[in-house]
Amino acid sequence: MAESKRDYYEVLGVQRGASEDEIKKAYRRLAKQYHPDLNPGDKEAEAKFKEVNEAYEVLSDSQKRARYDQFGHAGVDPSYGAGGGGYTSYDFGDFDFDLGDIFSSFFGGTGRRANPNAPRRGSDVAASVVISFEEAARGCKKQVNIHVVSPCGECGGSGAAKGTFRKTCPSCHGTGQQRRQQRTPFGVIQTQTTCSQCHGTGSIIETPCPNCRGTGQVRIPKTIGINIPAGIDDGQVITIRGQGNAGINGGPPGDLQVSVSVRPHPVFERDGYDIWYEMPITFAQAALGAEIEVPTLDGKITYTIKEGTQPGETFRLKGKGIPHLNGRGRGDQILKVTIEVPQKLNAAQKKLLKEFEEACNEANYPKRRTFFQKMKDAFTQ
Ligand SMILES: [Zn+2]
Ligand SMILES: [Zn+2]
Repeated sequence: MAESKRDYYEVLGVQRGASEDEIKKAYRRLAKQYHPDLNPGDKEAEAKFKEVNEAYEVLSDSQKRARYDQFGHAGVDPSYGAGGGGYTSYDFGDFDFDLGDIFSSFFGGTGRRANPNAPRRGSDVAASVVISFEEAARGCKKQVNIHVVSPCGECGGSGAAKGTFRKTCPSCHGTGQQRRQQRTPFGVIQTQTTCSQCHGTGSIIETPCPNCRGTGQVRIPKTIGINIPAGIDDGQVITIRGQGNAGINGGPPGDLQVSVSVRPHPVFERDGYDIWYEMPITFAQAALGAEIEVPTLDGKITYTIKEGTQPGETFRLKGKGIPHLNGRGRGDQILKVTIEVPQKLNAAQKKLLKEFEEACNEANYPKRRTFFQKMKDAFTQ
């Protein structure tokens, strides 16, 4: 009877604008109140429980909630109008008792919980290194110290103390599932749940390994050498395959993810694979042209700036930049000159400069000439 579906906010007894937290709280209170285990045989409680879960499934998922807010039930339930709603999985968080399993089986769910004995890949481990500007440009070798989850050496990863073995679970006889029958007004419902003694694995450890406390895994410190390629930039991450946490049930290990921080350089500034370098020159050097010494990654070089160099002019030093990460070619170094105007001139210097100024003509200052021409044109129109 889809048409009579109650509003999900009403079901949970919260306002339409309720926060995630309010929704969670309301859900927990109601789920406990109507839980089938606490209301055996109560059909109304069962229906309420179902309704509460359905509402929570939608309102706890921001995407589904947005669709619901816009389109109502039709926005979130493809079978709306055709009767019946599908049940998927529910996030029970740190709920007091584990009803995930009970729920998925109680309502004919397919038990989506993954097989606990299936191989699973280990998780990734994160680490970081800080390197200098030059190390990033040239490439370097570094070591990182990490802790990784590894199979316990004492028990070989079984979790059972030395000389003992895992035993078939006596509760489920190795199936990992428990069946039970529940009487309801409509008859007997058979439910299947994950075995609570072995958590679905089908086997138990009688004497846990003291080294890993039965988990089969321990965290061990490890030092890993990393080749940092020339050209790496600040914030980039190097992935080292298979150096993360050990897999579970024979699954492959995770990766080690090393994020690289590059310390800034006092005079060089990186822009992609190019290096910017700003250098002050004198007014006379700019006017006359000069040979100047320029620091580069490869050491100092002599660079000739031309006569009449202007402030802010840039010169490209081909191939003096950062090596490309793929190993082919390099960026450029871009030399930007600033012109320092002389200060604290003495009388003799001032005299010379005045003489120089008087000796200059319009041709020496083409920009000024154009500027004054424009001014003149503007005022005579
Ligand atoms: Zn069991
Ligand atoms: Zn162990």
